[in-house]
Amino acid sequence: MAESGLGPVARNAEWLMHDLLAWYDRDRRHLPWRAAPGERPDPYRVWLSEVMLQQTTVAGAAPYYARFLAAFPTLAALAAAGEEAVLRAWAGLGYYARARNLHACARAVVAMGGFPRDVASLRQLPGIGPYTATAIAAIAFGVPGIAVDGNVARVLSRLAAIKAPLPAALRDVTRVAEVLGRAPAAVARPADAVQALFDLGAGLCGKTKPACALCPWRKGCAAEALGLAAELPARAPKPSRPTRYGAVFRVRDAAGHVLLRRRPPEGLLGGMDELPGTPWRATPWSEAEALAFAPDLATLATPWAKAAEVHHLFTHFRLHLIVYAATAETGTRLTAPDTAALPSVMRKCLR
Ligand code: SF4
Repeated sequence: MAESGLGPVARNAEWLMHDLLAWYDRDRRHLPWRAAPGERPDPYRVWLSEVMLQQTTVAGAAPYYARFLAAFPTLAALAAAGEEAVLRAWAGLGYYARARNLHACARAVVAMGGFPRDVASLRQLPGIGPYTATAIAAIAFGVPGIAVDGNVARVLSRLAAIKAPLPAALRDVTRVAEVLGRAPAAVARPADAVQALFDLGAGLCGKTKPACALCPWRKGCAAEALGLAAELPARAPKPSRPTRYGAVFRVRDAAGHVLLRRRPPEGLLGGMDELPGTPWRATPWSEAEALAFAPDLATLATPWAKAAEVHHLFTHFRLHLIVYAATAETGTRLTAPDTAALPSVMRKCLR
């Protein structure tokens, strides 16, 4: 019977990391923010990509990363930008508090004269938690340590065949990461060790159908030996999300400009632009109730008409919005949607 848990990982840590790095040298991904072999990583790019990758996948982050770098090529440029410009560049990535933290972090780092180089100091910066601090320290500054994101947690749960469901098993997973991060092969190449694990989690040891036959860890992997690779990590059942209901009002003119308002700076989607609408509540709105919140414009060329229903998932609830549409006469003061900081849910309502 194969052994699970920390013991075998501790005994095998050196060859596991050695073989993982050899695999990485052959099969590493080429990512826009990743330094080529021998190239010095730019801490700004490392940090920016890590913050974006908390929101979305590599494929999802890449266009935002390119747009962000074009708008703010350096940390100093980002720090000097206005918050609205930063929110606009972030629009569509979700979790807008992170965009505001990103901006605050850029300003703090510029004021300090550059990124601190150790995990503890990085963690003091706005929006930088333990994962991001460990990743930046390892990738940008060569500080040994394995950053554990969702993909890495999956790989390590399988390597040690940790059967408790995530996220409760994160403490055990973190111990596995610590043991691997201390292996001399990992200490000699901290940036590559972290990124090799990212690549293993994004590729061979993916969520479904792990490709164990091709994996550099196959002979040390407890889940593979126990025939549990595809079943781990176990997942705690997700809490069900309540539904909230609202209505929004889309006034458009012939040029495609729309009526927008700014959300309050704090709270969900804080500081973003949105279509005017009702509050969001636990019960659906009747048409008469909703229309009482319609903007009072003297220049409407058509009456309000129901145009669409939009569903959107937030982390803690589902949102069901009814979109009422009307046309405004030319000359009404409206906004070009491209120039606004519109969250995804509002982009859906505009489409
Ligand atoms: S052997 Fe399979 S389950 Fe184990 S780390 Fe490799 S791909 Fe994942």
